[in-house]
Amino acid sequence: MASQTKYVYDFAEGNRDMKDLLGGKGANLAEMTNLGLPVPPGFTITSEACKAYLDSGETPSGLAGEIGEHLAALESAMGKRLGDADDPLLVSVRSGAKFSMPGMMETVLNVGLNDESVHGLARQAGAGAETAGGADPAAAERFAWDSYRRLIQMFGKTVCDVPGDEFEHALEGAKKAKGTANDLDLDANDLRALVDAYKTIFVRHTGRDFPQAPREQLDLAINAVFESWNAERAVLYRRQERIPADLGTAVNVVAMVFGNLGPDSGTGVAFTRDPASGHQGIYGDYLANAQGEDVVAGIRNTVPLQDLERLDKTSYDELLGIMARLEEHYKDLCDIEFTIERGKLWMLQTRVGKRTAAAAFVIATQLVDEGLIDLDEALNRVTGVQLAQLMFPRFGEGAEVELLTKGMNASPGAAVGRAVFDSYTAVKWSRSGEKVILVRRETNPDDLDGMIAAQGILTSRGGKTSHAAVVARGMGKTCVCGAEELDVDTKGRKFTGPGGVVVEEGDVISIDGSSGAVYRGEVPVVPSPVVEYFEGQLDPAAEDADELVKAVHRIMSHGDEARRMAVRANADTPEDAERARRFGAQGIGLCRTEHMFLGERRQYVERLILADSDDEREKALAALLPLQREDFVGIFAAMDGLPTTVRLLDPPLHEFLPDITELSVRVAVAEARGEAHENELRLLQAVHRLHEQNPMLGLRGVRLGIVVPGLFAMQVRAIIEAAAERRKAGGDPRVEIMIPLVDAVQELELVREEAERIAHEVCEREGVEVPYLIGTMIELPRAALTAGQIAEAAQFFSFGTNDLTQTTWGFSRDDVEAAFFSAYLERGIFGVSPFETLDRDGVGRLVRIASEEGRATRPDLKLGICGEHGGDPDSVHFFHEVGLDYVSCSPFRVPVARLEAGRAAVQTAGSDSR
Ligand code: ADP
Ligand code: MG
Ligand code: MG
Repeated sequence: MASQTKYVYDFAEGNRDMKDLLGGKGANLAEMTNLGLPVPPGFTITSEACKAYLDSGETPSGLAGEIGEHLAALESAMGKRLGDADDPLLVSVRSGAKFSMPGMMETVLNVGLNDESVHGLARQAGAGAETAGGADPAAAERFAWDSYRRLIQMFGKTVCDVPGDEFEHALEGAKKAKGTANDLDLDANDLRALVDAYKTIFVRHTGRDFPQAPREQLDLAINAVFESWNAERAVLYRRQERIPADLGTAVNVVAMVFGNLGPDSGTGVAFTRDPASGHQGIYGDYLANAQGEDVVAGIRNTVPLQDLERLDKTSYDELLGIMARLEEHYKDLCDIEFTIERGKLWMLQTRVGKRTAAAAFVIATQLVDEGLIDLDEALNRVTGVQLAQLMFPRFGEGAEVELLTKGMNASPGAAVGRAVFDSYTAVKWSRSGEKVILVRRETNPDDLDGMIAAQGILTSRGGKTSHAAVVARGMGKTCVCGAEELDVDTKGRKFTGPGGVVVEEGDVISIDGSSGAVYRGEVPVVPSPVVEYFEGQLDPAAEDADELVKAVHRIMSHGDEARRMAVRANADTPEDAERARRFGAQGIGLCRTEHMFLGERRQYVERLILADSDDEREKALAALLPLQREDFVGIFAAMDGLPTTVRLLDPPLHEFLPDITELSVRVAVAEARGEAHENELRLLQAVHRLHEQNPMLGLRGVRLGIVVPGLFAMQVRAIIEAAAERRKAGGDPRVEIMIPLVDAVQELELVREEAERIAHEVCEREGVEVPYLIGTMIELPRAALTAGQIAEAAQFFSFGTNDLTQTTWGFSRDDVEAAFFSAYLERGIFGVSPFETLDRDGVGRLVRIASEEGRATRPDLKLGICGEHGGDPDSVHFFHEVGLDYVSCSPFRVPVARLEAGRAAVQTAGSDSR
């Protein structure tokens, strides 16, 4: 008994660093309590209790007793007993996991109400109103029955799985009977009748009466929160956000305060800064005489938070004071949920708030200017994913489209697609390749997969804190919300705009999440200012520079100073190389030569393959030589002074020959006509000879260099001659020759000897020194495992993590992604495609082994990576840890890699960057 786990913590016992145990909500409620802010008292049941419950299927021993003790303490603090008939204490039961999961877990308010305590609540509310000066027994009655019907509704839906729309339907019916659309017009009698209707619904669906015992209500609600951890949409959200599945959720039990006690009460949400732009100011929504989710559910229209100043100046001032205090304390943007009960302000939640990518950069630099954080921390607070979002194009101006209306700019970006009105259609159409915009009156968690499938989300109701806005921002999806001029008819699959314009399912619309504009038709898109800045077209130091551009520049510059790894680009042409350089690339990590064999040059490759004699072969190679040399001169010029890694020919030769079926048909037709062409016949024979069952594992890479005489020699000659030419012209070419697909050191030695001989010969002849390195790609498991030997012949390694992933897992990227990856992701075999984020356990282990063993042989071995992973944030952190000298990625990802390499350098090992 003595060593039993503690499952329940009073708010006063916790703090914000205890999120693993208390969840985000509980940890921050504790933090606010200890700051002395007005938080209703309560306690938190830990995520450990949740895990124990889910593992064993029953309440862990000791939990019930602990809850009893904390409840008793709460009762004595409040001077009321839970569900007491005369003066009931009511509580809310609120989920709260470590990472905030908007709308995923449901909350039950007003627990403790039953057929008796509802009268007690009414009497107490009436008495309270008297002391507050305005006795209105009818209003107090109304309040009590409104609270009771809410309990049955929330409890029925979340705890007992009663379909929520049955309750909605009954509520709509009651309003209709009364001839109103406003729930405030329902009086105590209407609500009492509604409670009866709700109870009937409850019995019909559960086969039992609505539970009257307060403690039973409490326990059932707590267990339901535990169980909701495994609800389908919670699982989906975690997968989307890459949140581990085994954390469990904490449960908060909080004494109720009431925003629905009359016009001097209400509930609201607020941000300490604008989560869309980062600007300082007062951002929030308030709704008088309302409870809980009313403010975000869009049942009535909220008023801007500023209006609270007029409605209740005392509470408003107190709230602003608390907001300033929270920002100072958390040193970041916070979001807040609060309730005012008869002029008394209560804080119900706070957390470091989600924000758009642009706001993240702007806020981080603002906080530096305010002296709250330093530049390292600012770098920590932004991510490569956010930077990538900012590089998306935006809408251009003056398009020939019709502006339908303006809603709220809830989440930036430009989205174009066909209007769809339900999640199912969104998913179905997007699977078949259509781009769609999900249009809803408001969204709820059931819309999640539709939101994921859509390019953007448009709603006609709800503010910047509505479900649609919050979830879209979290996903980095474009969202316009609260476009109130639109009449959305989801059943009829259409919406009507101002002037009676009708948009039906399938019509193309465009939404601008940065301005809130909604257009009919397709709007052309233009590049983002951040890209223009990287392109060198915008000067961040200019007087009138965009504040986002300034912020990005400042953080990027700091990251560049901080990082240890260099960032290079994969570029095959001088144009790509120049662009990469503008984006900050410090060299080319992969220059592929295969495109240099396409187009008109195919004929020479064909001749090379068909050559019967050395003489014919040499002629074909001699024709290719000057063309290749020209290519390299251009690239070395673009990359003057920076290293350029040129990979010798890698793909199988048949890729340069005609398609086997096509050619067979052509030859067969020609033969039938008696016109068979000698050359075509020989070509067909060659195609047959080179045909492979598994070309990925066939005659390619270094194997070509060994089997096709003169091929690699020609390429090396072209490279060294080009470099010599640049040197003579006063340039500074930094040549690195890379041999692909090496399995064994012997292969590399053969190719290397030949290359060195040719380089020497060219330098002698031209009378210039050309410094160069010879190295290899590590892209086969055997190469990784024998890296110690290979390093004897290689001056550098570049990890080709695309092929290394294919060969380690034994599946071909082109063949399997569509075939079974969705099933694998669904079943949790991997959380993310190993082609997107490096598989640390398997492929990463090979990278580590090869790095360590390669450097053991050759301490100055240069190490880099040139797969797609070079631009993936998580993988960049891994490569930093392993100690690579550089990452190389596509030119457009270079800024992301720079930023993440900087973040990796400033982050201490094991710190949480989420
Ligand atoms: P979510 O995680 O969806 O934000 P919450 O647990 O914060 O859910 O609860 C939903 C709403 O219920 C919140 O807006 C909050 O204002 C309200 N609420 C929760 N607990 C209480 C309480 N003890 N008294 C009054 N309102 C509450
Ligand atoms: Mg909620
Ligand atoms: Mg909340």
